[in-house]
Amino acid sequence: MNLINLTAQEIKTKVLNLEISPLDIVEQFLNNIEQKDKTIGAFAHIDREYAEICANDLEIRLKKGEKPALAGIPIAIKDNISRKGYLTTCCSLSLKDYKGVYDATVVSKLREAGAIIVGTTNMDEFAMGSSCENSALHPTKNPWDLNYSPGGSSGGSAACVAGGLVPLSLGSDTGGSIRQPASLCGVLGLKPSYGRVSRYGLVAFASSLDQIGSFARNYQDLNLLTEVISGYDKKDSTSVQKDLNLNFDKDKTITVGIPEEYFSDGLNTDVRIKVEEALDYLTKNANVKTIPISLPSLKYAIATYYVIATAEASSNLGRYDGMHYGTRFDGENLTDSFCQSRTNGFGDEVQRRIMLGSYVLSSGYYDAYYVKALKVRRLIANDFQDAFTKCDVIIGPTSPIAGLKLNEDVDDPMSKFLLDIYTVSANLVGLPGLSVPCGFGDKNHPIGLQIIGNSFDEACILELARRFENAGHNNKIAEIA
Ligand code: GLN
Repeated sequence: MNLINLTAQEIKTKVLNLEISPLDIVEQFLNNIEQKDKTIGAFAHIDREYAEICANDLEIRLKKGEKPALAGIPIAIKDNISRKGYLTTCCSLSLKDYKGVYDATVVSKLREAGAIIVGTTNMDEFAMGSSCENSALHPTKNPWDLNYSPGGSSGGSAACVAGGLVPLSLGSDTGGSIRQPASLCGVLGLKPSYGRVSRYGLVAFASSLDQIGSFARNYQDLNLLTEVISGYDKKDSTSVQKDLNLNFDKDKTITVGIPEEYFSDGLNTDVRIKVEEALDYLTKNANVKTIPISLPSLKYAIATYYVIATAEASSNLGRYDGMHYGTRFDGENLTDSFCQSRTNGFGDEVQRRIMLGSYVLSSGYYDAYYVKALKVRRLIANDFQDAFTKCDVIIGPTSPIAGLKLNEDVDDPMSKFLLDIYTVSANLVGLPGLSVPCGFGDKNHPIGLQIIGNSFDEACILELARRFENAGHNNKIAEIA
């Protein structure tokens, strides 16, 4: 039986009915991954051994009659999520041989749920970037067009789901790193509300913005994974005690706010057309009412994000000095060793962010940049709060473009920063955001529709994903030669 193109839910059903064994799954999926990933490069580390451990554990539990929620489902996790005894390198030379010393809470939950973790996925170094090209390992290719990027920073996690290597994966989203690659790869990607999923064991980039979330090819599979990874965790002081309840009134009219700022200059025409078609579909077929809204502070979002994210990153990355953590490059004395380790261990983009972050936090500039950014963050939050008094969700494009060519604008990091325009606000405000596929652009590259929900209202955005299912954009797998 060929299992590769089955949905997560179908695999689970076959495993629970004892039609297939967890070890058969490892055999088929790992063989397929080992062969196809030579072309895509979605994985940072393929872990057959770990997958077999997961499968053997599950085998024993199935014999006892247990029916775990993700039984036998192969899943890949981003290379910044810690697993005890296994490589967690953030695709950085500075953590080249680093093995986790504990399991992240999401890893414990996946194991508990009987999932089979097949390896870690490629990413921009320390999750800084939008194209996966900042990985110290190799760039990942977009399975829909190998000359194009899968997006980033969770590009590997999006590509392995789009290319049919696994039905599910985990990524992290600090400013769009789940939603943007989901959009560019034609899969669903959910960044939950801040505090919904424990960050314990997620290597920190910008702690007030980081959030772990899921990729899938249809909303049922996405719901399944979201239910497993959500929940309060006392090991994460920012985790919130709120139960996830995905039951939503299927007859309720959902009011969708359309922000004028999401459809202004800078949005490519092919993206605009598909997003408008999706909105038209929803109004005609899905009991949705649209209203125009405005988010006037959106124009400050990129600047605010890049001040706050780099400030927090410069502090979080202080620990990689080759002594406390990380690869050591010896110098002539202690200070020189720190300097050599950080100079040789970090790539250009990470060094750029650390310098920018140190600058905005330095005395004399702290008030002018960092404190001001915190104030603007509040203004942006107020805009969203106002909007949610009038509508249930906000819809627009996920990314202003449909395809991102590999090796384009490598000398112009600012041009990539600007691509984050529609995604960073959800992180600044802590809101849940989902990208769902809504068609293909002029050059046949996937396009994503972004649905932003009110705080902790994942149920409403996932209900919209359900109502959009019949539009026919889900469960598409890119053919890989
Ligand atoms: N592209 C954004 C950045 O480079 C977002 C990254 C992320 O969400 N991890 O910072």
